[in-house]
Amino acid sequence: MAAEAILVWVRRELRLGDHPALAEAAATGRPVVPVFLCDETVEARGAAAQWRLGLGVAAFAEALAGAGSRLVLRRGGAAAALVALAREAEAGEVWWSRAHEPVAAALERDVAGALAAEGIGTRAFEGHVLFPPESVATKTGGYYKVYTPFWKSVRDRDVGTPLPPPKRLTAPGRWPESERLEAWGLGAEMRRGADVVAEHVVVGEAAAARRLERFVEERLADYPQARNRFDVEGTSGLSENLAVGEISARSCWQAGLMARDAGNPGAETFLKEVAWRDFAYHLLHHTPRLATDNWRPEWAAFPWNTDEDAPEVVAWQRGRTGVALVDAAMREMYVTGRMHNRGRMIVGSYLTKHLLSHWRIGQRWFDAHLTDWDPANNALGWQWVAGSGPDASPFFRVFNPDGQAEKFDPDGAYRRKWVAEGQDDPPATALAYFAAIPRKWSMSADDPYPQPVVGLAEGRARALAAYKGRQDAD
Ligand code: FAD
Repeated sequence: MAAEAILVWVRRELRLGDHPALAEAAATGRPVVPVFLCDETVEARGAAAQWRLGLGVAAFAEALAGAGSRLVLRRGGAAAALVALAREAEAGEVWWSRAHEPVAAALERDVAGALAAEGIGTRAFEGHVLFPPESVATKTGGYYKVYTPFWKSVRDRDVGTPLPPPKRLTAPGRWPESERLEAWGLGAEMRRGADVVAEHVVVGEAAAARRLERFVEERLADYPQARNRFDVEGTSGLSENLAVGEISARSCWQAGLMARDAGNPGAETFLKEVAWRDFAYHLLHHTPRLATDNWRPEWAAFPWNTDEDAPEVVAWQRGRTGVALVDAAMREMYVTGRMHNRGRMIVGSYLTKHLLSHWRIGQRWFDAHLTDWDPANNALGWQWVAGSGPDASPFFRVFNPDGQAEKFDPDGAYRRKWVAEGQDDPPATALAYFAAIPRKWSMSADDPYPQPVVGLAEGRARALAAYKGRQDAD
């Protein structure tokens, strides 16, 4: 009798290498049926994140074909789709990698229940994070709310070595029917922006591995300083690949460790940043409200404006606040699907402090426009900036965009790169913004550059007064 197939439900591990569920399934020698579902979590993604996921799925399907396998695609609720597929593939078991954000974790529980009710075995593997959230605990058994002690507790942990890709995956006697990826229309909401952003993505496992290698060779030594500069390509750019699992956090960690052992002066800072991602998942796992509500409940009474259509919010979204660094960063995201980390902090501070608008408005805008969207990093980033989160930026830290520009974009190269108005001969990057945005925004590179929607000093004073009022209420 032929061995029963194993269905491997691939969620965010779009890679052959260091993919524990796939590696172990391959090692059994049994037929393996890799499956990707356009399920409720995929449908709920913002446009850019959904679109980027689709590119990763296509690249992964190709990589699987190279290993003698296929990626079976189905759209629908995960539990019902997997029960149906397991029957069609005559699979006795369904395996997957755990996703740690609450919505995806809840889905996993539903799926496990539905499959068990049909007598189908299940196994969940790790792979998305370095340190599964429950595996890190304080001395009293609680979770970490502050990054530095978290970092100290994980810094020297053994995370094992990345697994090699399986050379071949045994195909089933008969493949279940697959849907066509194009028919799903992932990220259709991107509209004309998709063509522009497409020039800035680096897709697939092989490309992600090259990116890491080049980063370590060419940028890592200067990373601690260069990562803060707007006018230097100082970081790895790996967040878009990590977000869809085209590279594992463990591969990044191992590269960092090897560089640290070799005495590379940037390695420790890089490892610390990679560990921030785990910290974000740790917090989101233990306090799911991180993604939806003020992590500190006392912030509920803070008078943030929640009107997403307020003129100053619209100006922020469209990169027309009249504050060049804020506008440059917002446009960088619209054109490339990414934003400099310091840019994220500055535009976040500007929205929540200078404009006193709710961080949820910013979080939603990022959800829709980031190709490296990550549910944990985005939520933690926003609450950190707003001051409502764990280990947050203190209320009196109001980033001054002009001061930040002087320090980290001293010659204005980044601002010129992204803001066309007022330049005689704007570069292609700045002009690309107008090719990406909806026509109904009626913006043109020939428009005069707008006046600031709020004076920086006035906005700062207003923010400090409001934040102080909240503190006095404690
Ligand atoms: P590198 O500097 O090369 O860092 C390597 C990796 O470390 C990153 O890919 C990322 O996985 C991790 N990392 C670095 N900085 C951080 C950080 N501050 N927090 C958590 N992990 C970090 N990151 C996302 O991946 N997705 C998001 O949706 C996201 N939203 C953010 C929203 C706000 C308001 C803020 C302030 C930050 C957000 N970040 C997010 C964190 C950070 O800006 C990005 O991870 C970073 O800019 C990615 O660029 P890189 O890959 O070149 O990073």
